[in-house]
Amino acid sequence: MIQKIIRRFFKKKTSAGHDPVILPLRKHGISREHISPCAVKVCDELRAQGFAAFVVGGAVRDLLLGMEPKDYDVATDATPEQVRDVFRRSRIIGRRFRIVHVMCGRETIEVTTFRGPAAPLTGEEEEGDDDNHRQSDSGRLLRDNVFGSQYEDAVRRDFTVNALYYDPTKQEVWDYLHGVADAKHGVLRIIGDAETRFREDPVRMLRAVRLAAKLEFKIDAATKKPIQALADLLQDVPKSRLFDEMLKMFHSGHALASAHRLREEGLHHGLLPLLDAILEQPMGERFITLALKSTDERVREDKPVSPAFLFASLLWHEVLTRWEQYQQQDMRPLPALNEAMDDVIQTQVENLAIPRRFTTTMREIWGMQPRLLQRAGQRPFRLIENPKFRAGFDFLLLRCASGEVDAKVGQWWETFQHASDAERERMLIKDEAPPRKRRRRGKKPESATLPAED
Ligand code: ATP
Ligand code: MG
Repeated sequence: MIQKIIRRFFKKKTSAGHDPVILPLRKHGISREHISPCAVKVCDELRAQGFAAFVVGGAVRDLLLGMEPKDYDVATDATPEQVRDVFRRSRIIGRRFRIVHVMCGRETIEVTTFRGPAAPLTGEEEEGDDDNHRQSDSGRLLRDNVFGSQYEDAVRRDFTVNALYYDPTKQEVWDYLHGVADAKHGVLRIIGDAETRFREDPVRMLRAVRLAAKLEFKIDAATKKPIQALADLLQDVPKSRLFDEMLKMFHSGHALASAHRLREEGLHHGLLPLLDAILEQPMGERFITLALKSTDERVREDKPVSPAFLFASLLWHEVLTRWEQYQQQDMRPLPALNEAMDDVIQTQVENLAIPRRFTTTMREIWGMQPRLLQRAGQRPFRLIENPKFRAGFDFLLLRCASGEVDAKVGQWWETFQHASDAERERMLIKDEAPPRKRRRRGKKPESATLPAED
């Protein structure tokens, strides 16, 4: 009890002069019943122990806009250890800032302690000083793990619409930064000075684009202004974080819109080779548009999407270009394809840290493409047994849809898959039998640039 009183008093003091606008249910329409029962339970139980607890961030924003939140975050004044003590099924994770995962059933709620302001270094710190707020030379925050008041927690978030707090007990929305008005007007506005906030964390520029595309919001002019000039700062960001953000972007159900917005903001150029590849090649544009569109459709229909398939699509025309180049240097088609795949993957792995589990599948999908054009002998029978056949075939369909491959080839494979053995035998196309592999002894003859081999 005494602890409760002390906490209340302390909270009042630290947020003095920064009172939120508190909106009742009839003003925002988010009823407790709309919230994930797990998030409600987490808030209720923390409150029962005398802590403050609110649903926060993207979930409140999405509910306010009538969208279904992807996941739920809860913010509290309890420390991570205190949170963990309240919930049996919970664990502390994270190094940069420790958060608590609380599990109920299959759902996980991320619980974070209110975080304080990210003070810039003065330059006078001694070695070994408190390094909770380290910054790099470009102003990027390397750590920001200091607890703070609820107001401070709101201010260190990225956009005003992401800094709304929902109290499921009273069904109130707490708004410190006019986020509700911005949501109503469809404006994505950074909190504080745009340049400073993007320097602290350049990924916020990508988040701006992704969220604007997802919410169909306008990026506020002052927020937008420094983006082009600061685009290069993305190069300092750890590659794995960039990759995660790209995955979120491409799996948001708004991949195509995001790609267009990235181009508008000048964020695609020269900073992520993958995006250069996507947006700078007229040849591949139709193919990529189709790939992103079909990914968006699948996400919206709640069907699974495979990152490897998507990245294989996004980079296909890079592979095609290099494949062609190697063949022009007199390399035979399959070794040339292998070289081309190596090159493309090498560049992407260096720049974007695409994990190996994805690159292996990407190679399999690409590698299957020339083989899908051979419909004679035992090859088609062997190919449909390949565990990755479905992905390779879907990829072929994209190539057909973009006009790169005759649509009949796609139809042939569709029929072949569902045909009986006898029908399959009849379907084989003799003309496409690849020339027999010639055993070469000694020096490679001039005419060695033959078509496919297996
Ligand atoms: P999504 O719909 O993708 O989940 P989101 O806004 O919820 O969007 P999360 O990555 O789940 O995104 O982040 C949750 C909240 O954490 C955000 O709403 C925002 O308040 C805060 N946040 C996330 N990333 C940053 C960042 N880079 N800088 C400041 N605040 C951030
Ligand atoms: Mg979220």
